[in-house]
Amino acid sequence: MTARPIDGKDLSARVKADLRDRIQRAGRPVRLDAVLASPDRGAALYAHNQAKTCAEVGIEYHLHELSAEASYEDVAGRVLLMNTDESVRAIMVHMPLPPAIDAERVQSLIAPEKDVEGVNPANIGNVVYGRRSLVPCTALATLEMIEHTGIDLRGARAVIVGASNIVGKPIAVLLMRAEATVVSANKFTQGLPALCREADVVVAAAGVPGLVKPEWIKPGAVVVDVGINRIKGADGRTTTVGDVDAAVAGVAGWLSPVPGGVGPMTVAMLLRNVVDTALR
Ligand code: NAD
Repeated sequence: MTARPIDGKDLSARVKADLRDRIQRAGRPVRLDAVLASPDRGAALYAHNQAKTCAEVGIEYHLHELSAEASYEDVAGRVLLMNTDESVRAIMVHMPLPPAIDAERVQSLIAPEKDVEGVNPANIGNVVYGRRSLVPCTALATLEMIEHTGIDLRGARAVIVGASNIVGKPIAVLLMRAEATVVSANKFTQGLPALCREADVVVAAAGVPGLVKPEWIKPGAVVVDVGINRIKGADGRTTTVGDVDAAVAGVAGWLSPVPGGVGPMTVAMLLRNVVDTALR
């Protein structure tokens, strides 16, 4: 069997086209305010690309650039000002922050109704309750990609490999909400290959290149690869690979590629959270 691709580029393009229409029809400005105080050049590049993506959809992008030596008080103060500014409807803070700053403490300051990345613990808590809330974007992206395959999640068995607060756990909870039978696995899980072999859906979100092997996969299963790993090949060139071994494509029914899978869809889900928040 050759797995059908779950094309994140194509799906995200469709989501963005829909968002563009919604903004045009609403006739109201939609804006995203992002804080950047990162010593990491990658974060600045990401912010620059984000500005372009927002422009394509018709979202105004306001980047609040602070020094890479900014203190917790600097970043927190900026977030608190944005919380009370009525013209600001959607807030995100680029990671990583300078090493001395506790990122989770900053994230928990973002007003929950403006927290478009869904990183405030209040929003993550509401995901568990199934209440209307802003859901972490990678989890939303993963669910959309699984649903795209048409699988009936009710009663399906799903294994989520990786259990971080922002990625693995919210994915597990969204699948539980869809009434799947969910196993949340982490680096201490025993017998992971056998657990995966029973699963109709496997989500790989561990940050370990090529972890999920073809012999772990039930023929025809849906496999979503969330991993983004930069590795150096034998030729010295750096490439981006996921957590799923390429040979899984010979066993799975559906497989999301890396790059071009969950990554672009995560960006689209952030924009959708921005538009939902602004037009609510
Ligand atoms: P993390 O390091 O915070 O958590 C990793 C989780 O995987 C932990 O629960 C750990 O116990 C588990 N794990 C590690 N090794 C394992 C193993 N051998 N077997 C089973 N479980 C194992 O990472 P994260 O922030 O959750 O990110 C996970 C991956 O997803 C990374 O590659 C990251 O780059 C990627 N990511 C992608 C997107 C996207 O938009 N596509 C967004 C966020 C993160």
